[in-house]
Formats: sequence, structure tokens, C-alpha cells
Amino acid sequence: MQKDLAVVAGGGGFIGGWLARRLLETGWRVRAVDIKPLADWWQPHAGAQNLVLDLRDQSACFEAVRGARHVFNLAADMGGMEFIEANKAACMLSVLINTHLLIAAQAAKVERYFFASSACVYAADKQDRADVAPLREADAYPAMPEDGYGWEKLFSERMCRHFREDFGLATVCARYHNIYGPFSSWAGGREKAPAAICRKVIEAARGGEHRIEIWGDGQQTRSFTYIEDCLHGTLALMARNIAEPVNIGSSVLVTIDALVDQAEAIAGVRLARHYNPAAPQGVRGRNSDNTLVRQLLGWAPEMDLAAGLLPTYRWIEREMIRAETSPAAAPAATGAPSASPAVPGPGFHNRRAAAAD
Ligand code: NAD
Repeated sequence: MQKDLAVVAGGGGFIGGWLARRLLETGWRVRAVDIKPLADWWQPHAGAQNLVLDLRDQSACFEAVRGARHVFNLAADMGGMEFIEANKAACMLSVLINTHLLIAAQAAKVERYFFASSACVYAADKQDRADVAPLREADAYPAMPEDGYGWEKLFSERMCRHFREDFGLATVCARYHNIYGPFSSWAGGREKAPAAICRKVIEAARGGEHRIEIWGDGQQTRSFTYIEDCLHGTLALMARNIAEPVNIGSSVLVTIDALVDQAEAIAGVRLARHYNPAAPQGVRGRNSDNTLVRQLLGWAPEMDLAAGLLPTYRWIEREMIRAETSPAAAPAATGAPSASPAVPGPGFHNRRAAAAD
């Protein structure tokens, strides 16, 4: 009997690569789609159909979703604060991806459609203190999201909602809070705080200088969500066909200094800290209120930061050593379309050996 087909848009990226793997493991046929050349995908799975397409283009979206039962949209031109502050138009152009995918999914009569939204939709004036109150889903309105990237996410959430209300397409939206783990950008400008801090600590520890530059004063706060929790929440929301956007985020608030403490503990070093107040920092504080996700799913993200940071740190360390010893295999650290291919660390899928079928 033919198995059901799930499409993962952005399947060459961090979360998409992990999601495609989980779907394959749980019996789905998977079509992964990304704009990057296959050699630059973090995890191209041999068991998936892997397509290289620009999903801003509507005809590409029709090709991508043909025959699909579920569509997961994780494709976006995005990165950490450094990238989104300097590339607002590029971030907003991702609206084309979601809009055209919705049109194609509706035409193809897919059963369910998932959109990866972000905590960047939340209003800036609710995030101006380090001891921020955790953000409830209702806090996205009145709207004043992150310029560029956050507006695209909020608009695309609403587009999903109206496709559900007007056209009957079952759309599901998760608001991800700082997802981290192995197989994500760790250098080049698109990396997020956990990967950037791990890289800087590894550089300092290995270089012997024992000095680290921290963006901001180190007292800005965030919560960090391990990839396993992100996958669990995503699939649970889809399984339940939840209509409203829901936080998928840890509710454990930590300062950036505390994140550095954790990376230093893994490295077994203490570094002299130099703070750069002029660097991009984003909002002052951000945390996830998990009341709604608990009500809806009877679950909330539970992975401890120290436990999640360890495999992330080790993976980045291996990537850095490999890039030094074999420049030809330099890591696709940016995750950007132009990046060169990387070699994975042990225990993970070999992104070079895998082939499209
Ligand atoms: P990622 O950059 O690793 O993955 C996104 C993928 O989309 C990339 O592989 C990229 O090449 C692809 N892409 C970009 N433009 C495309 C196009 N025109 N056509 C096809 N593919 C295209 O990012 P990620 O961390 O895996 O994030 C996945 C989704 O989750 C994104 O929508 C992101 O905005 C959202 N999100 C992520 C986080 C996080 O902390 N990682 C937080 C909030 C929301």
C-alpha cells in the first residue's frame, strides 16, 4: 500500500532536516524541498525525495506539493539577529514562499498545512525588560513585531488563518522560540546565540587566548528550545489540527551570560568577557508562556539547557576541527544557499553520502 506523503519545505535547513528524518522514521514518505544545492543541505536523507526548487515561485510550489497529504513550511530566508537586522527586505520576501505554498496546497487539496512562525511576532513593548513576563499568544496584538522578519511571520500566520476560514484548508502555526541543536548554522552571520556562543567558546578555549566577545551587556534574556522539543511540539500540533498559533518554546529564562557559563562548563574553561553594546541584540527579554500549549497538548518543552547544549557544542566542535583540517570540506556554517558542503560529525546522517531518489 502506498504510504502517505509529507512535504517538508526548507528540508535542507536545520529544523527541516530533523523533521524530514523524524517523518521518515515514523513511516511517512517524505519529499524535502529547498533552494540550496543538495550538497549544502544539513541532512539530505537518502530515503526522501529531495528537490531543489525556489519556493518563492508559484509553479515550483505546485510541483512541490503534488500528491501530498501534509505540507510543512519551514522555508524562509532567515538567521539570527545579525542577519535579520541587516536583511529586512529579504526576510519579508519569504511571504512569497508561504503565500504560494498555501495557494498550491489548497489547489492540491492537502489535508493539513503547517507554518513555522516565530516569537519575533510578539510586540516589542512587551519585551523591553530582562525580567520579562512570559509571552502569551495574545501578546502578539496590538501588533508591533520585529521589523522585517517578524512582520512577515505575523502576516503569514494571518494568511494561514484566512485560508482556514475562507477556503477550509486546515492550517496549523507554531511560534518557535530560539530552537537550537546540531546541524544548524554556527558561523557566517546566520547563526543564533547558542551556536554563536558555542563557537566563540570553542575558539577561545582552543586558541589559548581565553577571551570572549559578548554582544550586548550579557544581561539580556531568552529561553532556548532544543530541537527534540521543537519536533515533538510541531508534530503534536499537526496531529491535533490546532487552529490558533501556539508557542513552542522553553519557559526557562536565562541571561546570555548564563548561556556562556554553560558553554564554558562544557569546555572546562573560564574566559575574560568583553561586552559589545553596539552589536545587534534584539529585544531585551523574551520568554514563552506555555499555558496554552499545556492546555492543548498536555505537554510543554522540557529539555534542560545543559543537556541540549552538550550535543550542540560537541557537534560544532567537530565541524570546526574538520573545517580546519580539510578546508575543501569546509562546513556550510552559514546555512546560506551559497555555502560549501560540510562533513557531519559521527552519529549523524552523512549529508554527502545521501542521494536524492
Ligand atoms: P534554516 O535557515 O536552517 O532553514 C530554512 C531553509 O529554507 C534553508 O535551508 C533555506 O535554504 C530554505 N529556503 C530559503 N529560501 C527558500 C526558497 N525561496 N525556496 C526554498 N527553500 C528556501 O532555518 P531553521 O532554523 O531551520 O528555521 C526553519 C523555520 O522555522 C523558518 O521558517 C524559521 O523562520 C522558523 N523559525 C526558526 C527558529 C529557530 O530558532 N531556528 C525560530 C523561530 C522560527
